[in-house]
Amino acid sequence: MSKGVFYYTDEFQAYDMGPQHPLKPARLRRTHDLLAAYGALAHVEVEAPRPCPIDDLMPTHSAEFIETVDRLSAGEHVPFPFRYGFGQGDNPVFPEMYEASLLYTGASLQAAEDLVSGRARAAMNISGGLHHAHRDRAAGFCVFNDCAVAIHRLLRRFSRVAYFDIDVHHGDGVQEAFYDDPRVLTISIHETGTTLFPGTGFPREIGASDGIGYSVNLPMYPYTGDDIWLSTWRQGGLPILQAFNPEAVVIDVGTDPHYLDPLARICLTAQGWTEAVHDVMGLDVPVLALGGGGYNPTTVPRMWALVFSEIFGVPLANEVPDSFTDRDRIPTLRDDEPAPIAPHALEQARAYSEQTLADLRKMVFGYHGL
Ligand SMILES: [Zn+2]
Repeated sequence: MSKGVFYYTDEFQAYDMGPQHPLKPARLRRTHDLLAAYGALAHVEVEAPRPCPIDDLMPTHSAEFIETVDRLSAGEHVPFPFRYGFGQGDNPVFPEMYEASLLYTGASLQAAEDLVSGRARAAMNISGGLHHAHRDRAAGFCVFNDCAVAIHRLLRRFSRVAYFDIDVHHGDGVQEAFYDDPRVLTISIHETGTTLFPGTGFPREIGASDGIGYSVNLPMYPYTGDDIWLSTWRQGGLPILQAFNPEAVVIDVGTDPHYLDPLARICLTAQGWTEAVHDVMGLDVPVLALGGGGYNPTTVPRMWALVFSEIFGVPLANEVPDSFTDRDRIPTLRDDEPAPIAPHALEQARAYSEQTLADLRKMVFGYHGL
């Protein structure tokens, strides 16, 4: 068995929503270059993905939506594109949108297949993690929901699959895709929907029909730092994950909970955030890591390098190698100091997290014998 597979191609740069858009494909190349400077890529197989076959998109998206993405991408006129989530703002139509989206999704599908076939115990697609895409609608910079596509593939072999989302935004599209499915446990820890897109992800969203108890949400208040975030996860999410006893885990490693990220107000350090990935590795089951959000060019590459180090077991020195071209702006992987948080903000964050934990204990724990 190979040590792991890392999906990468320069063609990922085609997923480009324009110069004014916060989602910059350069973050993918910079992450690749940082890992290359460390010599880390020699420890895994680096593979260029193939586009996702349409059949594999079908359990996640409607045929009508897939065709609409294809037509918009080709420059055809589609009446009322905002019905499908497209328009100026979050989800502009861009050239080669269909092809680029199929490539991102294909990378997640192949990474899932690596775990299904037993080729690898860990695989990573930094271009994936597009967790906001819905069945019939693009949302939050996401066209196709590669996370859901990958989970469907994992279910071919694994009877219980956990999805753990540490992006700062609620993983709404993935939760929705498996809301009534007890084979898939979704856990999302994020800035509360009362202050941040997409406005969902509250503890009361626990699943439906057979899936009741298998959607878990840990909303956090703005200015939550490492200590509160980690203790909420470890008291509220990790026990459920352990009780579920998954045969494989998908993690959405959006780096936007970092305190320097411009799109949200959770205040984690790179190393505090990575602790949650470390906890997942403690389960000792196959792991698929998907990129997700992250909008600060100096934090995304080093946080994904830390995830790479965790899931593939490749130690990386904190000091970034001299050969890395952006070393001036990214001198180390870890942050030197905790995020500065005012005492009153800390108190608010603590009170909110205690309410989140109380809600989870009341509404979800019982379904897992806790
Ligand atoms: Zn995000």
